[in-house]
Amino acid sequence: MSTLFISDLHLCADRPQGSRAFFGFLEREARGADALYILGDLFEYWVGDDDLDDAFNAAVVSALGRLVAGGVPVYLMHGNRDFVIGDAFARASGVTLLPDPTLLMLHGQAVLLMHGDTLCTLDVEYQAFRREARSQVWIGNLMRQPLAQRKAAVEALRRKSEQEKRVKPAEIMDVAPSEVDAVLRRYNYPRLIHGHTHRPARHVHLVDGHACERWVLADWYQGGSYLACDTGGCCAVSLNES
Ligand code: MN
Repeated sequence: MSTLFISDLHLCADRPQGSRAFFGFLEREARGADALYILGDLFEYWVGDDDLDDAFNAAVVSALGRLVAGGVPVYLMHGNRDFVIGDAFARASGVTLLPDPTLLMLHGQAVLLMHGDTLCTLDVEYQAFRREARSQVWIGNLMRQPLAQRKAAVEALRRKSEQEKRVKPAEIMDVAPSEVDAVLRRYNYPRLIHGHTHRPARHVHLVDGHACERWVLADWYQGGSYLACDTGGCCAVSLNES
């Protein structure tokens, strides 16, 4: 049995292709897995668990719930788009929330799971925003606003971020190699799996004489793919070839 990893689905009601691919994946490929790990940015944005009644969100929650009820544990890590997903979401869907990073033993190998944004340390501006936005004060201020106002605020943030991304040099938005090395060293040279950069690839980092594999997960804007790992290793599978 393999363990499956996905991230960066960026699900939202106005991108039906991506949600169809995701619902299909939960009904088919994920059914045979021993576990499913979602490493952040499941949603394009999440403004609070009081939005669970929204029809689209409810559909995602019940699809996850069916997979969990079918015996496949689902683990969910926050991304930078959906880091206020909370306990009510977890209870409603049956998923288990995972801290970022999480180190685990999987098929006899130490594996470090991250969303990936903390590796992008060259983007100093983003890291400063991230620190602020993850503070209790910032989240508290957000949650005090009515739901509709929160949605409008997040929409504005999204537009700002899209504009900034257009002018930022590409290497700034990728992981910083020195940070990857530091993290691999800190966690004793595991295999690393993360998303966020939307640059799916398998890299090998040679750190202190240890060859560490780093898998970057794909986004689901067009089609989608997942990483399947078992005792033999990992491989990326795109949905139309499985
Ligand atoms: Mn992300």
